[in-house]
Amino acid sequence: MKTRSPALLCEYTTFRLGGPCPCLIECAHPDELIRTVQRLKKDNAPFVLIGGGSNLVVSDLGIDATVIRYFSRTPLIERKGYEVDVAAGTILDDLAVFCVDEGLEGLNYTTGIPGSVGGAVLGNAGAWGKQVGDVLVRAQILDQEGRLKTVDVDHFGFSYRHSRLKETHEIIVSVTFMLAPGDPIVLARERAEILKKRAEKHPDLDHEPCAGSFFRNIEPTSKAERRQAAGSFLEDAGAKNMKVGGAYVFPKHANIIVKGQGASAQDVHDLHLKMMEAVRQKFGLQLVREVRFAGKFKTTLPSNPEGFW
Ligand SMILES: Cc1cc2nc3c(=O)[nH]c(=O)nc-3n(C[C@H](O)[C@H](O)[C@H](O)COP(=O)(O)OP(=O)(O)OC[C@H]3O[C@@H](n4cnc5c(N)ncnc54)[C@H](O)[C@@H]3O)c2cc1C
Repeated sequence: MKTRSPALLCEYTTFRLGGPCPCLIECAHPDELIRTVQRLKKDNAPFVLIGGGSNLVVSDLGIDATVIRYFSRTPLIERKGYEVDVAAGTILDDLAVFCVDEGLEGLNYTTGIPGSVGGAVLGNAGAWGKQVGDVLVRAQILDQEGRLKTVDVDHFGFSYRHSRLKETHEIIVSVTFMLAPGDPIVLARERAEILKKRAEKHPDLDHEPCAGSFFRNIEPTSKAERRQAAGSFLEDAGAKNMKVGGAYVFPKHANIIVKGQGASAQDVHDLHLKMMEAVRQKFGLQLVREVRFAGKFKTTLPSNPEGFW
């Protein structure tokens, strides 16, 4: 466990944005996380939890609370038959690699999605119509009082890019997934194809920092319809030419905002409002954010002073 006082949050987000926090505690192991959360709860000390920081825009003013970063460079994964227990700080793509090697089918579509298993479960991350909640059977969580509990999948109330834990603020410590037998060769081939497609479609994080798709796709209005890509509405509304300060829309994908030279988190915030307004004016549609904001912004939107909104 490492503690930095203070720390700069831009070093812990894929957007490379975010000001200071008074103290950042890095927890790689579930026991470290449990001890840290229980101590802070006991002391009534406010804190914010992050994983890989790949779904976040952190304010230029930073976060005025302790930040716990639950993220492990060493995968903590155990296989029991077709069940896999994984610490939620494990990198999601490390889990995808483990499943390929072990010939386990059910999570290959998570290949290349940045961030931790915990962040993925909180937001029911996925791709190509599949999402992590589909194969989760149970999890260990810390409730609002810091008590460790085992809960089953129903506790999460999963829906598209959502779990109820976004409202309850419970913390995911570890997760059990139920997977199916698969052929490692077929899975490895599929993984290579997914990585190729992602490289073509997404910015290169080393040179074009971002947080992936900014808005959720549009929910269908009837069961017969499919979800519609937010990116195509944004493109038709002219988003691909939009820019605020140093933040700009990724030329290959209108639903991605990139941090360009000198961009601030406030620029990203203002650009996302401009994009939403263009879609509202052209199509009468209200886009819903997938990316979460943390800290304070100059905004007309209702804010959550404690952390995420
Ligand atoms: C290039 C790129 C491509 C992407 N592609 C996809 C994609 O295809 N599909 C997709 O769904 N997403 C995608 N994303 C978004 C992002 O990778 C996912 O949402 C990811 O699962 C977030 O995990 P994280 O650990 O980085 O969470 P963070 O960004 O650190 O945090 C996000 C939220 O999760 C919470 N959280 C983190 N860990 C825990 C925990 N253990 N317990 C409780 N809450 C927790 C935080 O408090 C915060 O509210 C992409 C992002 C990038 C940058």
